[in-house]
Amino acid sequence: MQNDLMAGISGVRGVVGKSLTPDIALKYSSAFGNLCRSGKVVVGRDSRTSGEMIKSTVISGLLATGCSVVDLGICATPTVEIAVPELKAWGGIIITASHNPIQWNALKFVGSDGIFLSPKENQKLFDLVENDRIKYQPWNKIGKVSFDSTWSKNHIEKILRLKYINVKLIRQKKFKVVLDCCNGAGGVVSPDLLKALGCTVIELNCQSNGLFPHDPEPTPKNLTSLCQAVKKHHADLGFANDPDVDRLAIVSEKGIPLGEEVTLALATRFILGKKPKSHVVTNISTSRMIDDIVKEFDSKVYRTKVGEAHVARKLKQVKGIIGGEGNGGVILPELHCGRDALVGMALILEYLAESGKSVSRLASELPPYFMVKEKARLTKNFERNLSKLKRKYSAGKISTLDGLRIDYDDFWLQVRKSNTEPQVRIIAEARSKHEAGKLVADALKIINS
Ligand code: MG
Repeated sequence: MQNDLMAGISGVRGVVGKSLTPDIALKYSSAFGNLCRSGKVVVGRDSRTSGEMIKSTVISGLLATGCSVVDLGICATPTVEIAVPELKAWGGIIITASHNPIQWNALKFVGSDGIFLSPKENQKLFDLVENDRIKYQPWNKIGKVSFDSTWSKNHIEKILRLKYINVKLIRQKKFKVVLDCCNGAGGVVSPDLLKALGCTVIELNCQSNGLFPHDPEPTPKNLTSLCQAVKKHHADLGFANDPDVDRLAIVSEKGIPLGEEVTLALATRFILGKKPKSHVVTNISTSRMIDDIVKEFDSKVYRTKVGEAHVARKLKQVKGIIGGEGNGGVILPELHCGRDALVGMALILEYLAESGKSVSRLASELPPYFMVKEKARLTKNFERNLSKLKRKYSAGKISTLDGLRIDYDDFWLQVRKSNTEPQVRIIAEARSKHEAGKLVADALKIINS
């Protein structure tokens, strides 16, 4: 395992006790305190066992730079994104390594608008740390901490009030849902949302104790217990949240994982059905299903680099109605400009309730594509090998917006550096699984050479 600290668009991420130590957390939170001009800062964390330790140092840095801290405790990442502008705070720090394994943790920085810092703002923060220019306050200007545990409840209420959500209709359907929160932060909020929507909830791993019973990335291979439980309980569907509740995966009533790409596709189809001729924003790694759905509803899709901050900012800029990332991250700007598994679950249940169809039926109506995703180790030969790939597929339409994406009429392939792990992500989408798999295998050979 590589232990280097990763600082980038997704914040500062490292392995606890190795690259992510208390002094590192302190430096970055103090620098953020300076950027927030000693104003109010909201802090929340996922349930990782390292969370309390990192939170203590983060709060210490903020207090030392004169910030007043509102501690939300264990909560979803999108809950912090909602609380920051509502509390008129200067910013927020979320302590979570999202879907990374248990040994990781991270600080994610949110601006006063509730959106992750832009690359430029992040750079300002990183420069303060690198150039050792942090300024601390004297004894009489130290900040204060208050604890506010109301925000998960507030978050749920805001979802129930959305104009797209007909609470009465969903309640009438009495859906039976199996929910797997991987013992992440979802446990403190997701079961309550589903119960408020009248669902019978079968809770798997909703303890929020940070002891992940399986790899926390909500990809099909990690959802076997959820699939089995859906079948066993004859549930209408299964939901999986990643540890900080910004990604949502769905399991059909047949116990089959639909794949993360389907989450945003279903949500987009539902919303565009309500409001055609709208703008949608997603990243460049997301399925072509979105392009087809957008055409179906006479709408327009904008593609950005991978990373919530890029998608969120573009959504604001073009006044998009829905957006997100193909990894199960749904953004509904009407609520807030961040990926939110909670709003994703509510939209899917509303879609089921209004259509009267099963989730596998709704998924079968989506454009038929097959996506294969792989990871490879990031080596020093990466750029050279990327050029080799570019030559191999030179007949395709090339985009270098994020890594390398090559589009042909019937398939596309993308190879890019991960923002969150020292890895290379390889994605192919084609009309058959075999074809997509072959594209990825061929690319892997070149990337590993
Ligand atoms: Mg996440």
